[in-house]
Order: sequence, then structure tokens, then C-alpha cells
Amino acid sequence: TRGRTKSVIDELLNKHRRPYSTGAVRRLEGKVALITGGASGIGKATAQEFIEQGARVMIADKDSLLGAQVARELGSSAQFVECDVGVEAQIEEAIKGAVDEHGKLDVMYNNAGIVGALVPPGVTELDLDEFDKVMRINVRGTIAGIKHAARVMIPRGSGSILCTSSISGLMGGLGTHPYTISKFTIPGIVKAVATELCQNGVRLNCISPGPIATPLVVTQIANYYPGATYQQLVEIVNGLGKLKGTKCETIDIAKAALYLASDEAKYITGHNLVVDGGFTCFKTLDF
Ligand code: NAD
Repeated sequence: TRGRTKSVIDELLNKHRRPYSTGAVRRLEGKVALITGGASGIGKATAQEFIEQGARVMIADKDSLLGAQVARELGSSAQFVECDVGVEAQIEEAIKGAVDEHGKLDVMYNNAGIVGALVPPGVTELDLDEFDKVMRINVRGTIAGIKHAARVMIPRGSGSILCTSSISGLMGGLGTHPYTISKFTIPGIVKAVATELCQNGVRLNCISPGPIATPLVVTQIANYYPGATYQQLVEIVNGLGKLKGTKCETIDIAKAALYLASDEAKYITGHNLVVDGGFTCFKTLDF
């Protein structure tokens, strides 16, 4: 009897099992994705992860040398397009290129970002031209990416758009004022625009990564540690992790992006997924 009960349960489980939960089906099979800032760090790791899960990926980056090299590294499912997200026409062109090539765009990941120059911490010294520069890439670039992705996704009634905030978008004092303000803006954009896109079947979410030793962060903290080697700076960033025995890695963000990009997250929109190993749970900073 026990054997029969078990086989009935197995049969029921199999009946209700979705293809993605078997692990046999690639989670982005047949999807087309565009990733800004895809030539390095989080963007590169995500491009690789998306491709392994069956997607064709357009890497859009302003660094044409690195971008072309990374696209070659990732194989025939990757392509590179030169794109400065601070220039709306270039984002529009990059998206048009993806659609011309593949017939559609399923996933848009607005990942490119800059930290900007290290400015004095005091607001009284704030350089507003520097502020504009950071806002132009991190905020204007993001909304431009959403706008042009939505233009091609809405007529199809589907799509997943991802944006990049940060732990600096959840707490003060983790970066310069322009960077912090720009990253606080991203969840606001997501809330505002997701309500509209909901009605068209298009999802819009953002991810807030913890500290990862990518060039963006390592070159910034170098200012605080004159004379430190690159490897020493990497170790310092890795040491900021709060979850015992771990550090935040680009793959952790790539996996979160994979989930939000995939149909597994078909009911999730307007969300800010924090991937920081508990960093923002702490009341005080001790680094
Ligand atoms: P990274 O330096 O490794 O990669 C950034 C990429 O963006 C580079 O390839 C660069 O060429 C590209 N880029 C910069 N300006 C661009 C522009 N105007 N147009 C197109 N591409 C441009 O950095 P990363 O850490 O992978 O950063 C990716 C995103 O993650 C950024 O938005 C960053 O703010 C965010 N983030 C990073 C961390 C971290 O600790 N590394 C934490 C939170 C959020």
C-alpha cells in the first residue's frame, strides 16, 4: 500500500511540475536579451549566465574594445553593440539592432552605471556638473532604456525589464552624494513605471547588489587606500560581506537577474530585489 501511495504522490507531483523546476529545461531558452554595461563585472557575468540558460544576448557598452572581446569570449549567442547609455539615440539604436537581428526583445537589463569622481563628502562642496554627469548615466540612461525597451515590448504584450540600484540606494553614507542619490532614484522609477507597464504585460524590477570587487568599486576605494595594490583593494571589498564565510560575487547578481528575467518571475513586478548578504540589515557600519 505504501508503495502505491508513493507512486500516486509521484504522479501528482509530476503532473503539476513546471518545466523549469525539473532543471532539464534552460530557463531563458529562445529569449533575446540586451544588457547595458555588459562588457565587465555584473553585466558580463549576467550575459554569460543568460547564454548558458539559452538566451541570445546583445552586449551594449561604451567600451568597444572590451565589449567586442567579451562577445567573442561568450561565443555565437553573444553580440556586441557600442552604446553610451547617456545618449538616448544610441540606446534606441542598440535596441533596434537587437530586434532587427532577432525579431524581438524579451529582456532589457539597464545595468550600466558610473560612480563619478570622488568628491568631498560635504554637500557644500558638491560639484553640480559632476552630479549631472552621474545622473545622466545612472538615471537618465535607465529611463531611456526603459522607454525604448517598452516601445518594442508593449506591442508584443510581454517582456522583462531590469534596472540596477545598489545598497547605496538603500542607505546613506555608502558612496558619494551623486551616486547615492542616483541609486535611490532607481526603485522610484521602477515603482512609477511598473504600474503603467503592468497593463501591457511588461514587468519592471530592479536589483540592489551588495559590494562586489568589480573595477567600478575597486578603482573608487583606491582613493581611500593610497599605495594599496589592486589585489589588496579586492580583499578589502570582499571583507565587507556580512554573511559569514561568503562575499558578494557577480554571479550572485547574475542569478537574481536570471530569475527576474525568466518566466519563473511572471507575477513579480515593481520589486527591488536586494542581494547583499544582509549588509543593509545592519544598523551601523563597521568598515
Ligand atoms: P564594472 O565597472 O565592472 O562594469 C560597468 C560597465 O558599464 C563597464 O563595462 C563600463 O564600460 C560600462 N559603462 C559605463 N558607463 C557606460 C555608459 N555611459 N554607457 C554604456 N556602458 C557604460 O561595474 P559593475 O560593478 O559591474 O557595475 C554594474 C552596475 O552595478 C552599476 O550600475 C553599478 O552602479 C551597480 N552596482 C555595483 C556594485 C558593486 O559593488 N560592484 C554594487 C551595487 C551596484
